[in-house]
Amino acid sequence: MIRVTIWNEYIHEKNNLQAGKIYPNGIHSQIASFLKSDDIQVSTATLDMPEHGLTEEVLKNTDVLVWWGHVGHNDVRDEVADRVAESVLKGMGLIALHSAHHSKPFKKLMGTSCNLNWREDAYERLWCIAPHHPISMGVPSSFVLEQEEMYGEPFDIPKPEEVIFTGWYKSGEVFRSGCTFTRGYGKIFYFQPGHETYPIYYNEHVQRIIKNAVAWANPLLKLEKLICPNTQPLE
Ligand code: ZN
Repeated sequence: MIRVTIWNEYIHEKNNLQAGKIYPNGIHSQIASFLKSDDIQVSTATLDMPEHGLTEEVLKNTDVLVWWGHVGHNDVRDEVADRVAESVLKGMGLIALHSAHHSKPFKKLMGTSCNLNWREDAYERLWCIAPHHPISMGVPSSFVLEQEEMYGEPFDIPKPEEVIFTGWYKSGEVFRSGCTFTRGYGKIFYFQPGHETYPIYYNEHVQRIIKNAVAWANPLLKLEKLICPNTQPLE
């Protein structure tokens, strides 16, 4: 059983008519609805909860954290962001979705600005350029998102371990739309699609990719503390 926590700032869905129409119960609820299965146990957390719903206890019992944030990045308390980043170092998987590229935990783990070019209302074709990778399982060689926000290169991230998806836009830009990293014992997947005013998380291929990513990021080992467990001198 993989224990997944889906974190969402949950702001646009309450303030923006279009986002609220597409995700009446929040983006986190939609992601939860397709992740829930016999193999995946899902809980959700939002910005307005005490400690943003990400207490020590919650993170200790989370194998993979899914993160959606945008306008609320700066409202995430530093100590909570640090706690999330430290949990990744200890082995928790992290799936950073869409504008999570600028979230505090992701930026901390990357160590770069994570800046990119962007523009609304683009036609995107996602190419699967690593078909051998577990995150690509069951995903076609390419698929189209008729409407998505354009995220374009240059994307200021450290060199990814693997680029799984490349986004191509009719307007000419390209983007490393699906990238993997390892930090400490934790696996990280950044995935670009998911602008709040388009029904991206209803797309079957997007759903498949996020499901695959959760399975891939599920840790074999999670440390209790960030220290070497063997402190006894060797005989
Ligand atoms: Zn967006």
